[in-house]
Amino acid sequence: MSISTKDLKLLWGRSGNLCAMCRIELSADSDRTTGTHLVGEQAHIVGKKTDGKKSPRSDSLLTEEERDQYHNLVLLCATDHTRIDKDFESYPIERLHKIKTDHELWVREQLAGTVDLAKEAANLVYASLIDATVRELMLGSWCAWSEMAGVYFPRWPEHLPDQTLSLAKRLDAAVWPGQLPRLEASLLHLSKVATDTTVLYSKNVEDSGRGYLQPIRRYKTIYPNPNYDKQRDEYEAWENGIREGFAKWCQAANWFADEVRNSVNPTFFAEAGRFTFMDTVYQLSESERETTTARIGHTLRPSAAV
Ligand SMILES: [Zn+2]
Repeated sequence: MSISTKDLKLLWGRSGNLCAMCRIELSADSDRTTGTHLVGEQAHIVGKKTDGKKSPRSDSLLTEEERDQYHNLVLLCATDHTRIDKDFESYPIERLHKIKTDHELWVREQLAGTVDLAKEAANLVYASLIDATVRELMLGSWCAWSEMAGVYFPRWPEHLPDQTLSLAKRLDAAVWPGQLPRLEASLLHLSKVATDTTVLYSKNVEDSGRGYLQPIRRYKTIYPNPNYDKQRDEYEAWENGIREGFAKWCQAANWFADEVRNSVNPTFFAEAGRFTFMDTVYQLSESERETTTARIGHTLRPSAAV
C-alpha cells in the first residue's frame, strides 16, 4: 500500500477537492472524470524516493512511510504537479508547505458554517477502520499468501490469526457512524468470515518455526495407527473447511473493496483489481449483499428497525 485511505481523506477534504495552486476543481476518480473535473494528484512535498535515486526535493530524513503521509502531500492538478517537479528550485519544500497551508486555510474560510462536521468525522472513522482492515487482514499482499494459506496443507503467516482476532475486537468496539450501512456491513462481514476461518484453522496447527504456521496431520503421527482412517477423514474435512473459508474470505474482500470504492476512496485497490482465490474471482450477488446489509444493520441499530 502507498497512501492510506485516512490520509487521502484528510488531504482531499481539507483541500476542498481543489488544486492548492490554481484552485481548479479536481476529482479522485479517473473513471468518472468528465471534461470539467481534472484528476487530482497527490504530490509529494519531500520527494518519494529515499534510495538515492533523484526525485525532486528528496533530500530529507523522512522515512519512506512518512513521505506517503498527509503532512507530506499536497493536492495539485497535473499541470501544477509537473511545474513544481520541473522547476523544483523555485518550489522548495518550505514554499510547498506554505502553499498547502494557505490553501487549506482559505478553504476553511470559504466553507465556514457550511461543512457538515458530523459527516467529516464519520469519514475519518471509516477511513481508519478501512486502513486497519487492510493491514490486519494483509489484503495488500493477498495474492502472495492466500493460495498457500487456503489449499493443500494450508500454511499461514504466523501473525495472521492474532491480527484477524484483534481486528474483530476493534470492529466490535467501534462506534459505527451509520452513514454508510453497506460499507459497515461489508467490513463486519469480512471480519466475521476471516474470524470463523481463523477459529477453524487454529484447531489443528503448530508453529513451523520458520515464520509460518502449518497443519498437524495426526493420522501420520504414529505407525501403525489403529485410528488412521478416522483421523485422515477428520483431517481432510478440516482442510476442506479451510478452503471453503477462503472462498468466502475472497468473496467478502471483493464486496468490501467495492463498497470502499463506491463511497470512500475510488482508487482503493483499483490497480490491483479483484481479489482471486485459486484463479477464481469469488463474488457475492447483489441480493446476498442486500440481505447481509439488512441483517447486520439490524444487529448494529436495533432501534432503527422498530
Ligand atoms: Zn493547478
